[in-house]
Amino acid sequence: MTEEVKRVYAFGKDAQGNNVTEGNTSMKAVLGGKGANLAEMANIGLPVPPGFTISCQTCMEYANAGNVWPEGVLDTIQEYREDLEARMGKKIGEASDPLLVSVRSGAPLSMPGMMDTVLNLGLNDESIKGLIAQTENPRFAWDSYRRFIQMFSSVVMGLDSDLFENAITAMKNARGVATDTDLTAEDLQELVVEFKQIFTENVPASDYASLVSDGTVRFPQDPSVQLQLAIEAVFGSWNNPRATLYRKQNKIADDLGTAVNVQSMVFGNKGNTSATGVAFTRNPATGEKEFYGDYLVNAQGEDVVAGIRNTSPIADLKHVEGLEEAGTELEEVFVTLENHFRDMCDIEFTIEQGKLWMLQTRVGKRTAASALHIAIEMEKEGLITKKEAVMRVDPEQLDQLLHPQFDKHANYDVVAKGLNASPGAAVGEAMFSAADAVATTEAGRKCVLVRWETNPDDLAGMIAAEGILTSHGGKTSHAAVIARGMGTPCVCGAEMLKIDAEKKEAAIAGTDIVIREGDMISIDGTSGCVVLGAVELVLPELTGDLDTILEWADEFRTMGVRANADNPEDAELSRGFGAEGIGLCRTEHMFLGDRKQIIQSFILNEEPSIRQKALDELLEAQTGDFYGMFKAMDGLPVIVRLLDPPLHEFLDSPRELDVEITRMVCEGAPAADIAEKRALLSQVDAMAEVNPMLGLRGCRLAILYPELPAMQVRAIAMAAARLQKEGLHPEPEIMIPLVSVLPELETLRGEAEEVLVQVASEEGVELNIPIGTMIELPRAAVTADEIATKADFFSFGTNDLTQTAFGFSRDDVESKFVPRYLERRILPFNPFETVDPGVAMLVDIACQKGRATNPDITLGVCGEHGGDPDSVKTFHKIGLTYVSCSPYRVPLARLAAGQAALAETMGDARDK
Ligand code: PEP
Ligand code: MG
Repeated sequence: MTEEVKRVYAFGKDAQGNNVTEGNTSMKAVLGGKGANLAEMANIGLPVPPGFTISCQTCMEYANAGNVWPEGVLDTIQEYREDLEARMGKKIGEASDPLLVSVRSGAPLSMPGMMDTVLNLGLNDESIKGLIAQTENPRFAWDSYRRFIQMFSSVVMGLDSDLFENAITAMKNARGVATDTDLTAEDLQELVVEFKQIFTENVPASDYASLVSDGTVRFPQDPSVQLQLAIEAVFGSWNNPRATLYRKQNKIADDLGTAVNVQSMVFGNKGNTSATGVAFTRNPATGEKEFYGDYLVNAQGEDVVAGIRNTSPIADLKHVEGLEEAGTELEEVFVTLENHFRDMCDIEFTIEQGKLWMLQTRVGKRTAASALHIAIEMEKEGLITKKEAVMRVDPEQLDQLLHPQFDKHANYDVVAKGLNASPGAAVGEAMFSAADAVATTEAGRKCVLVRWETNPDDLAGMIAAEGILTSHGGKTSHAAVIARGMGTPCVCGAEMLKIDAEKKEAAIAGTDIVIREGDMISIDGTSGCVVLGAVELVLPELTGDLDTILEWADEFRTMGVRANADNPEDAELSRGFGAEGIGLCRTEHMFLGDRKQIIQSFILNEEPSIRQKALDELLEAQTGDFYGMFKAMDGLPVIVRLLDPPLHEFLDSPRELDVEITRMVCEGAPAADIAEKRALLSQVDAMAEVNPMLGLRGCRLAILYPELPAMQVRAIAMAAARLQKEGLHPEPEIMIPLVSVLPELETLRGEAEEVLVQVASEEGVELNIPIGTMIELPRAAVTADEIATKADFFSFGTNDLTQTAFGFSRDDVESKFVPRYLERRILPFNPFETVDPGVAMLVDIACQKGRATNPDITLGVCGEHGGDPDSVKTFHKIGLTYVSCSPYRVPLARLAAGQAALAETMGDARDK
């Protein structure tokens, strides 16, 4: 405690009952979430077993020094240990009345189950006697000791847990009993001897010289050695593969480190007046105001989460004989915690011989539906403000509400039912291991991961799978918690599934149905149903709570939200989601199918009459397209982008043509047909580009083939004229893509204006159609002051801007090297998903320069980033007028834009 940097912090009471806690909930960066909230609970008078927390920074210092302890820290830990022993009136490892401690990880951001924990630390061949004497319960004491050896061996020494599980199974078989609880004290004592032997046989002496005596590795008896090794193991678990993967998945920085909480043990397995459980102060799946969770009588720590025994619902606890008082107190604690943290909390607790102890609390993870409901209810209850309610919902999570559901009209038979652990429906091939799930997804097929119960090693498979199905475990089991966090549909605890992971099949009890690897199955995480076969899925409608929160977000939002859509159905859909216009109508998407032939015949033929025919056909088709779009968005702006295809997207592939010609020759096709194909191939070859993305596309195409934009502008104008005459209010705008120099825009604008004037006079209507440009090339961005003189609006095409700013081919790099870059943290995130700061700087420069010469210019973004919440924040800061994104992202963008505006005035309440 003498060094400048404080690395260890006490929490809980001293021997006199005074709170000696040194931390609080605001210190998560130092104490980790668990440590900070243990401190906070102690501060507000809740019963917390005393202990101390070693800071996250110490973990990083230790790791950065190559797993070497910083000077003096071990001494400080020793001081805190002695202080804890004095507070508890017991010593760790003492023979008469030993203090046992847990050693738990706890990072600044929640990483459930990803890092290590050791329980019952301090037991050895001497202290076991004290534990027996104090508890007068030899069975409990021996069980604690065997659990400790098992956990220490697997967590700290990295031994395979199966070595121990197999020994337990062998013992049960020898005794002819079915469950662990049927083993006697003597059986467990025997197991302790066996476990120590397993330890000796499997821990390599060369790695652990300090554990060798008389030439043999022995299970450490010295509590100081146990404690130091356990803390080092928890530090080390920060960088274990599953924690690293979880951080990558959840965008958590690698340099935060984990704190280590050393805490006096309390026992939920001291008989029938003891229990342990996990709970939420409200329902994390629906948001209903009800106590929610599971408990087990006479069980320890991880048993509930591990799903080893079936749990009971928390609401029953206060009715259980001997647990009434603790159960009632727990409900009071729920209320205290909610009022204090002003949010739904999740809790771990233990009742030791009737006395309630709080082991953990944190703001609880929840589904999107629950997040919305809780935010709205808490606002109504006066617990939080409307602004806070808006900040409470993670925009990314809204995606869950847009998850598919089983079609109500579909016909299907439910073959099994489990718990509805994480909402949404999923269809895919049944896969019985995480590795198979990953391989199936990599092969481009969808799968559902089917497991008895998941564990953190299954994470990669859980991420890969469309859905997760388990036959065991409750709604707070690993599978349920992780699936909900990821927004992956999950059905858990479907006990009628008898899974044989080795054989890769699951029999359904009471039937002759067997689900085999590769069989299509469907699960509904909203109802808990399991179906053999693929059920038709539909997307749910947005109503109720989501509407309320989005309307509240709209009250605060200053940035507009539009949609990228190129057909009337998508336009209508996005309008239903609240889009305030179309920010990008990609007209090349209107040239697929039959129309591809038409545009091909225009591009590849020099004969004027053929070209004119193609143009006439396209004009008619496009006028109809635009009519539908403008009608769907009546009264709202629709930005139509003139044709912007890299040409190869419109032409047949030379390789396919080659194959076709060879086939025709082999099959003896008529010579004239072959000659025609060859002519086509040579035309396609002549137009081939090495870098089509950087070639003849965008405004360059329009300049080379002025008839194309003239046709499109005429179609836009005629559709608008027709709608005006029908009494509607079309608001088209014309956008010119891929401009890099002002004269490109000047030329095309002039040509477009001529057509608009012509159509207006032909149709006898007034057409006020703004003309603007995309900014998607760095040159355009840095000369935006010039370009703005001829643009009514800029729309930032951040897909191409990212491509050209980085020099990354947008069609290739995401599957080629970006994953490696992300893995090695060369890039912090995929710049095609979240706007890169360098690209954002180009956007910012262009906005400033554009406004300097054209103060009225409208500024928007229509790259994919317009639907990414983090990017939306950046665009808000830059001061864009609107973001435009795909229809299903519109609700996310509305919420993200509202939050971006609020964050400026109130800070990010979600970080609380
Ligand atoms: C862009 O480049 O960001 C853009 C919206 O255009 P596209 O994706 O069609 O190239
Ligand atoms: Mg583009």
